[in-house]
Amino acid sequence: MKIGLYPGTFDPATNGHIDILSRAVKLVDKLIVGVASNAAKKPLFSLDERVEMMRTEAEQFKDMADIEVRPMTGLLIQFAQDVGAQVIIRGLRAVSDFEYEFQMTGMNQRLNTDIETVFFMADPQYQAIASRLIKEIARLGGDITPFVSPYIAGQLMEKIRNNA
Ligand code: ADP
Repeated sequence: MKIGLYPGTFDPATNGHIDILSRAVKLVDKLIVGVASNAAKKPLFSLDERVEMMRTEAEQFKDMADIEVRPMTGLLIQFAQDVGAQVIIRGLRAVSDFEYEFQMTGMNQRLNTDIETVFFMADPQYQAIASRLIKEIARLGGDITPFVSPYIAGQLMEKIRNNA
């Protein structure tokens, strides 16, 4: 059975993330979405909230693969090994993602030679989407509906209202 791990911060899940997820489920029998606690990034949403949001978003693909959304702490390659993943799935946006992903993949290959990293590119309409910018737009009162699902848009607006 092919098991894939799609790791990310997902703060919050965007249409770009969901596009990558929709491609990943074609490749594996089981997809584990690893939601990184990533305290260093100071996420807007708590780990529990991000897991819950991703679970709700992933529901739409449940007929395509077995999907499990789990919180993830510690070293990525160790988590991948622990959950039995043979592949790590990442998304590439612009050239700007490349350098970081190149280094990460290179290091992970040294740490575990059995786990491969696979990259997907989102549909062009989703390629420019970044969680960081969506949060900025939402804070400034802009329209975020082109970038996230209506459910995520609601969660984000509520979070920003409560934090104000
Ligand atoms: P991380 O903090 O691990 O980069 P993110 O939640 O920002 O987590 O992203 C998770 C993965 O999804 C990364 O591989 C990232 O490049 C990818 N990704 C995010 N947004 C997009 C997008 N719009 N198009 C393609 N890939 C994306």
